[in-house]
Amino acid sequence: MKKINSNRYGDRIIGLAALFLVPIPLCFYLLGLLFREIFRVWIYYSLAAGLFILLSFSVLLSIEFYQDRMIERKYADVRKKKVLLGNGVYECQSCGNRKVDFMDNSCSVCGIVFNTDSEKSLGKELWIIKQENGQNK
Ligand SMILES: [Zn+2]
Repeated sequence: MKKINSNRYGDRIIGLAALFLVPIPLCFYLLGLLFREIFRVWIYYSLAAGLFILLSFSVLLSIEFYQDRMIERKYADVRKKKVLLGNGVYECQSCGNRKVDFMDNSCSVCGIVFNTDSEKSLGKELWIIKQENGQNK
């Protein structure tokens, strides 16, 4: 499913809903007073359209918030890692500090404790070091 991002159009949708909820019903009401005709049905149609737009947007927004929570959960794991950049230099994924040593359990800048449960990733890092030194065979 594509990531929903309502930052670009959210204000316009709310504005459209507000248009159907306040100015349009008010215009029908004033026209009703002016021409002594009953525009009550059109007022209800406009209010219903505005509420439908708001309801649809709130469903879309709740899906977007759910997607954001999933991304945040995924990113929380990545933040606790140090990534080998090469030549024994590691980068803290939380703050970008590049003065992280192989033996460091936490970052000296931001203080985050690295996730050290990954012996598999250690093996991968050693493999990368061997690749860089041309010792892969
Ligand atoms: Zn850090």
